Amino acid sequence: MNSNILMYEDITENIIALKVNRSYNENMTETELYDITRGYWRIDIKRAQYVDYAMSVYKDIIIEVYKIEKWLQAGTIPRTTLPDAEVPEGRYEFKGNIAEKEIRDKYIGKSIANLSTLQNPIKYFNCVPNKNEFINKEELCNTAVIEKAQKIEGEISSLNVEGASKKAIINARVNQGIFRDLLLERYNKCCLCGVENHTLLIASHIKPWVESEPKEKLDVDNGFLMCPNHDKLFDKGYITFDDDGKIRISDRLTENDRVFLNVNSRMRIELTESNKKYLKFHRENVFDR
Ligand SMILES: [Zn+2]
Repeated sequence: MNSNILMYEDITENIIALKVNRSYNENMTETELYDITRGYWRIDIKRAQYVDYAMSVYKDIIIEVYKIEKWLQAGTIPRTTLPDAEVPEGRYEFKGNIAEKEIRDKYIGKSIANLSTLQNPIKYFNCVPNKNEFINKEELCNTAVIEKAQKIEGEISSLNVEGASKKAIINARVNQGIFRDLLLERYNKCCLCGVENHTLLIASHIKPWVESEPKEKLDVDNGFLMCPNHDKLFDKGYITFDDDGKIRISDRLTENDRVFLNVNSRMRIELTESNKKYLKFHRENVFDR
């Protein structure tokens, strides 16, 4: 590679990038850096099994690389250089060592600025069993997701509810499962503001469940992760987004309500290419209806 800015094809190992922006300072010792890098992370533990290395990343620059021995429940090995803190639930830490020279030389000092998206502090590179298996796994995953959506649909129709109650049950079911997990892994906080308390965050459909095709119902690109206020505003069509992510706010929302519900015309959302077809539906059928 010729540049200090990495492209996807430059990263050939199974690596997880872990952003230590909040805890890092340049006077840290080797052990202190290891301690802030190894935990605690809300990782997808199934995918983490394929991770061979972890990069410690500060402001998009790789500052250290570790070879991972294994992942453990957060708090298993005390972080001696850090003050005692409560161990958050559902998080993990890794145990490992500084990577071999060849790997460190390849990555340290390089930037992942072009590859690092959204606000998520975690980014996986490769980390799939192998290409053939991955294709099957993807297909399997699609089928499983459609089956799962149909199962939820079946359960709900057997309850014989309609209208608002039906919608409430769908929202509850969707927020217990894979759709929410995928959105949490992708965003980690409200897509629009900074709310990051996971128990408050809601998996919000862009194209509503009832209007979606089976394969769209649990498609991660058909969702945003939102705090309760922003979820309600989006769900009820008071706000939507243009294809460049810029917010549109309904005239039905008074200035006062905008202030108290924390929306303003300068807000924008980060979009994936595949969000856009769903957003088009939202603008045309949900917004301002
Ligand atoms: Zn929010």
